[in-house]
Amino acid sequence: MQLITSIDEMGRYSRELHAKGRQLALVPTMGALHEGHLSLVRRAQCEADAVVVSIFVNPTQFGPDEDYTRYPRNIERDLELLEPFQVAAVFQPDVQSMYPPDFDGFVEPGALAQKFEGAVRPGHFRGVATVVVKLFNIVQPDVACFGQKDFQQAVIVRRLIADLNLGIRLVLGRIVREPDGVAMSSRHAYLSAEDRVAARVLGQSLSRAQQRFAAGETRSEAIVEEMKTVMGSEARVMLDYAAVVDPYRLEPVERVAAGAVALVAARVGPARLIDNLILAPAGASDEERLRLVFGKAMLD
Ligand code: AMP
Repeated sequence: MQLITSIDEMGRYSRELHAKGRQLALVPTMGALHEGHLSLVRRAQCEADAVVVSIFVNPTQFGPDEDYTRYPRNIERDLELLEPFQVAAVFQPDVQSMYPPDFDGFVEPGALAQKFEGAVRPGHFRGVATVVVKLFNIVQPDVACFGQKDFQQAVIVRRLIADLNLGIRLVLGRIVREPDGVAMSSRHAYLSAEDRVAARVLGQSLSRAQQRFAAGETRSEAIVEEMKTVMGSEARVMLDYAAVVDPYRLEPVERVAAGAVALVAARVGPARLIDNLILAPAGASDEERLRLVFGKAMLD
């Protein structure tokens, strides 16, 4: 496993691999790796001959009052976790080379980026879109692996790839959860023991939405009310939004059908947490749910 920090060297390495006829998969991350990231790496290994994991805490996707400076960083541990996977390279550029002082070339996604996370975090998806396109241009992957965990991000990246003709195959990985149902997140590092327990309500509200849908409820209003009730059962949790949306335009739906997505976001102590669930008939696997929305997207 090579650790590459130079943009030029990353480009050279990618060209060499391609010259040998090898297909390359990119897994973009901000580090502080956990099993969710590792499941994407496993998935990437099934999709291409060589895997590049990027580790870059991207300043442009954080607002001025957000957690950029305190976001957890532990490159030694990340490299240890990746060691058994025999990834081809870890790409860890520095901020100065990604964003030189006169940087002025942002990628601006449209309406999808204004809703939900974009409404709470203005400019967030402009930063995400910019860094994703930069990473794609530097690494030149054939395949890019993203997590369903950041559902809105996945939908925006899907649009970017199509709208900007990037010619990259997008693969989505399912959400990896802790044993108590909480979606794994690097931001759990911020949580006290009490906050961590309280964080369960996000997953619980989604399970409740799924139960109601599987029991025949199709009124979005009723399902969202139920989600809010579950979220409201924890005083430590401040709800940002709970909604059921269509998986393409992220518009709230009135009537819920399989493939609609329940979204939830909340502040829990010092952390902001997000989670989602693709609603489907009872017993549907994560893989089947993802396929409803992202075509052939499969799981590891
Ligand atoms: P991040 O480091 O948080 O930017 O995440 C990097 C990638 O890992 C993104 O595509 C995320 O959607 C994905 N990811 C984050 N958390 C999880 C999780 N719990 N399960 C699966 N994928 C995840």
